[in-house]
Amino acid sequence: MADEKTYIMLKPDAVKRRLIGEVISRIEKKGYQITQAKLMTLDKIVIAEHYAHLLDKPFYPDLEAFMTSGPVFSMAVEGENVIAGMRQLMGPTNIYEALPGTIRGDYANNMTENIIHGSDSEEAAIIEIKRFFE
Ligand code: UDP
Ligand code: MG
Repeated sequence: MADEKTYIMLKPDAVKRRLIGEVISRIEKKGYQITQAKLMTLDKIVIAEHYAHLLDKPFYPDLEAFMTSGPVFSMAVEGENVIAGMRQLMGPTNIYEALPGTIRGDYANNMTENIIHGSDSEEAAIIEIKRFFE
């Protein structure tokens, strides 16, 4: 299978809690390659684009406040089947189902402040890498 690229974001809680190294270490141990990386602060406009599918949810204001509360660490990550593979390393969105051994299972206990974002499809990965790196 050909190599894929995905977009990974370490959210403001990960940066504040000094977990960048821990998470990068897991990505590298899995054998994936980090090809781009950048610390950045996001505004409400880019968050609304990135989370357009959630704009009408009751939790959106809390999500927006969280995502603009401090810097995030953006990465492009490359490897075989990396889009699904990273979603597996991350653990599910529902934090109560995130098993120990996954990033969310080990480091998060909150539905909103859940450490990491990873693209969920090839189309999303292309759009997100463009959004955050171009
Ligand atoms: N989120 C939340 N409450 C929910 C569902 C999602 O606060 O009930 C937040 C959470 O930070 C999640 C983000 O919205 O990571 C994006 O949601 P999505 O469904 O895309 O989950 P993901 O792809 O991050 O697993
Ligand atoms: Mg998502």
